Parts: sequence; structure tokens; C-alpha cells
Amino acid sequence: MKATRVVEGLPANTPFIGPERLMRENGLRELVRLGANESAFGPSPRAVAAMTGELERLAWYGDPDSYALREALAARHGCPAEQILVGSGIDDLMGLCVRVFLEIGGTAVAARGTYPTFAYHVAGYGGRLETVPYTNEGEPDLEAIAALAQRVRPSIVYLANPDNPSGVFLDGDRVARFYESLPGETLLLLDEAYADFAERDRLLEPRFEDRLVRVRTFSKAYGLAGARIGYALLTQRNAERFERVRLQYGVNRNAQIGALASLEDEEHLAWVVRETAQARADYERLACELGLSTIPSRANFVCIDMGSAARASEVMAELLRRGVWIRKPGAPPLDRYVRVSAGTPPMRDAFARALRAVLSERASAAAP
Ligand SMILES: *Cc1c(COP(=O)(O)O)cnc(C)c1O
Repeated sequence: MKATRVVEGLPANTPFIGPERLMRENGLRELVRLGANESAFGPSPRAVAAMTGELERLAWYGDPDSYALREALAARHGCPAEQILVGSGIDDLMGLCVRVFLEIGGTAVAARGTYPTFAYHVAGYGGRLETVPYTNEGEPDLEAIAALAQRVRPSIVYLANPDNPSGVFLDGDRVARFYESLPGETLLLLDEAYADFAERDRLLEPRFEDRLVRVRTFSKAYGLAGARIGYALLTQRNAERFERVRLQYGVNRNAQIGALASLEDEEHLAWVVRETAQARADYERLACELGLSTIPSRANFVCIDMGSAARASEVMAELLRRGVWIRKPGAPPLDRYVRVSAGTPPMRDAFARALRAVLSERASAAAP
């Protein structure tokens, strides 16, 4: 029995290794989780209360239309509910987008080493991904991506803003110019997982066109990563296309309830955004004290330059040995950085202590 040609041709890799596996394989009982950009500040207490109160009705399927949530999101975004599609997180919505717009053998374009799920779906649906390295400053190279797009005329260009793993935020005008410079037959999949951390009026303005799909999530600033829920902002025409292939009961009922309650708790969100800015400032100060540079970030993580990819990997492994889990970008030029998520003050302290210890050990090992 053979699998499809597409699946037979895929490498047997996973884009993510979870912290649970790292703990299992390294015999760790506890881990300071600073590797997945989860919210260390947790979900809104209102979301927790609403979800807890509904647990008894777990026997029910969720509303396949996510009606109440879509209405609330529509009010927030000033658009009709028909222009919102709810999915099980951005990862799910990206898969739908690829399935809807990319033919088998078709081409997509992205920054090399950006958030990996897009590449994973492109490969899984039998497409080809062409990539452009980040600039030396660690920014997605918009001009080079647009030039490549003009050359290869891809079905989809993927851009994350704020970007992961760099944390770089591109102003709305720059994103608009980039979008307009893409070929007329190319869709821009704009991943705004971290949009809640940026000022709203500096994001790309609300725009609903068939060539643009924007995706948002409750996983990051709203602290609901484990609930798996996100949404797309798109034209009604594209929403109807997604409707033809999406899993009608794929969205967790409790997640719908938690997301709705989160939207109503603006205070919690504002607090998380403030705490996150504080965490970034702490990491920047720490890096500065250690003589290391960082990439200015508008997301809930910071990249710290370790000088080389080998050192970055070593530092990451040493931190894990000390029970601190972070990640690092995989592709040059960003692979010399480690990426640490915004933690609570005690988590930040644990990271700072472990990093100082690792670096001083290395320094004394290097001394004659
Ligand atoms: C975390 C992250 C996601 C995943 O979002 P989910 O809604 O949890 O699937 C998507 N894109 C980027 C850029 C991310 O960093």
C-alpha cells in the first residue's frame, strides 16, 4: 500500500519539538517555558470562568458557524461577520489558505526561516516554497521578496508582521507598498499573530480584497494557545471558498466561549501588552549588560545575538540543561540568535541567572 506521491516525497520531520518531549528526553521534572511565545501572563480570568462554567456541556459540539464570536469580532474590526472565518488557530487557517489557493506543484514565497508552519503546509499540499533570506539587520527583505514574486509569480506570498522569529515590526505603509508591489495573481497571506502587541493605528489599515488574507490568533496576547482558536479577516468570496474545505466542527466549543469572553476583557489584554513590553525591556537590558545585541522586537519575545549559530545552539542546549527552555531561529543570518519569550518576572530572573551562568562558564572554559 502506497501513500500519495506528495506524502511519500515528504521528509519525516516535524516543524516543532514540544517542551514535553524535551523534558521526557532530558529527564527534567520542571521547565521554565520560554520557547514557544506562549503568554506567561495567562488568559483573562473571565475567559477561564466562562470556559469552566461551560465544561459540563462538553458533550455538545461547538457552533459550526462560531456565530457569537464572529459577531463580536466583526464589531471589533468594523466589518461584516461574513468577512471573518474562525479556525483552530492560525496554523489551521494557514493550511486552509494553502489548500484553497495553491495547486499541487504550485509556488509560494516566504522569508527563509520565518514561522515554519507555512512551509509545512506548502510541502504537505504538494507545493514548492521559494525563500529569500532575512536582511543582515534581521528584517524580512521586502524588496527581495517582491522581486522574487515578480519573477516566479507565486500563488501565495507569506509575511508575518510582527515577524517571528525576528520580532521585527513593519509599519502599515510599508506592508501596503509591499502588498501593492506583488503580482496581480498573487495572494498575500499576512500573519498577524502578534498584532495585539503593536499599536493598532500602525498596522496595515483594514482592507478586504480577494488578494489579501489576514490571520489573527487568541494564542499569544490572549493567552489561549492551548484552546486552539484564531480567525481570518478576508473577503466574503474567500470566506466562502474556505467554507468548502474547512472542518465544520474543528473549532473547540470551549475555545469559542473563552475567546468571546477574552474579547470583552480589554483590561487584561492591555495589562499583558504592558507586561510584555516590560519583559522585552528587561531582556534588552540583560543583553546589553552581557555585551550582546538584540533585534528590536514588537512581539512577545526577543532575539539575542550569540555571535554564531554554533554558539547559539550551545547556549540553548546549556540553558535546557538548567531547566530553561528557549528556541533559536534555524536559518542564516538569524541562526546566530537565540529567541526568548516574554516571561513573568520570576521566569525572567531564572533566564537571566541561567544565561549569566552559561556565559561565565564558557568564558572561563575559553580562558587559557
Ligand atoms: C505562534 C504563531 C502562530 C500560531 O498561531 P496559532 O493560532 O496558535 O496556530 C502563527 N503564526 C506565527 C507567526 C506565530 O508566531
